[in-house]
Amino acid sequence: MAGILDGKKIVVMGVANKKSIAWGCAQSLLDQGAEVILTYQNERMKRSLDKLLADVDVKMFECDVADDANVEKTFNEIHDAVGNIDGVIHAIAFADKETLEGGVKNVKKDGFNLAQDISAYSFISVSRYASAIMNEGGSIATLTYIGAVRAIPNYNMMGVAKASLEAEMRYLAAELGAEKNIRVNAISAGAIKTLAVTGIKHHGDLLKMSEGFTVNGKSVTPMDVGKSASFLMSDLASGVTGDVIYVDNGVHLIV
Ligand code: NAD
Repeated sequence: MAGILDGKKIVVMGVANKKSIAWGCAQSLLDQGAEVILTYQNERMKRSLDKLLADVDVKMFECDVADDANVEKTFNEIHDAVGNIDGVIHAIAFADKETLEGGVKNVKKDGFNLAQDISAYSFISVSRYASAIMNEGGSIATLTYIGAVRAIPNYNMMGVAKASLEAEMRYLAAELGAEKNIRVNAISAGAIKTLAVTGIKHHGDLLKMSEGFTVNGKSVTPMDVGKSASFLMSDLASGVTGDVIYVDNGVHLIV
């Protein structure tokens, strides 16, 4: 069966394990016929990916986004391996425990800078080096959360970083759309139990609250998010740029 992503090469950044939103994205992209290229943070993540990908033919590249030089090198390596690409999904965030747990008032400069660096600035760096090897009409997407626009209990500094990320997305959409007809969007996912979420204080309460606000009593899955990511990567989403698409089973209707 023909998929909506037949012939497209898409880079997915941020698979840590089978619960990762990026893994739901990778699975959906593969279902839709894309050639998927994964990047992982470090050797530990690679071991987890090696297990997940035992039966799947996917190229993988190491990329710790903490350093621009790594990001540039990774996209050069990807270009050498597969040529031009058609899309990128950025599903990366980090803040240290002390910064996340103390409330925004108590955030220190180092913790603020680290959270912004990995969770928000990295999207600029990735968009810069990815767009350089991207075909005209390509697509870039990042993952955000409603804590960017609402004061969600305990989401704290990550909400501040997601607000930056969403603003970056709009500026990048304007710039890259003008330069190369590249679309840039964000998916605001409902709360899902992943490794990243366990860093949030009382994350069990956050997950329960989020599920309680869905229209059907069910949290979204990484695959639900992945399907919208496939849409955004595809030509079906031509004309969609600079947008935040909520994939949260309606939580944003109430929160
Ligand atoms: P996850 O822990 O599975 O993924 C986070 C990824 O970030 C990991 O693969 C990790 O290796 C990567 N990462 C962290 N620091 C990095 C660095 N320096 N270099 C390269 N990679 C780095 O968790 P997830 O929930 O799937 O998170 C993916 C994205 O989705 C994040 O941006 C997160 O904020 C966002 N998001 C998550 C939820 C949720 O409820 N889980 C909701 C909305 C948005």
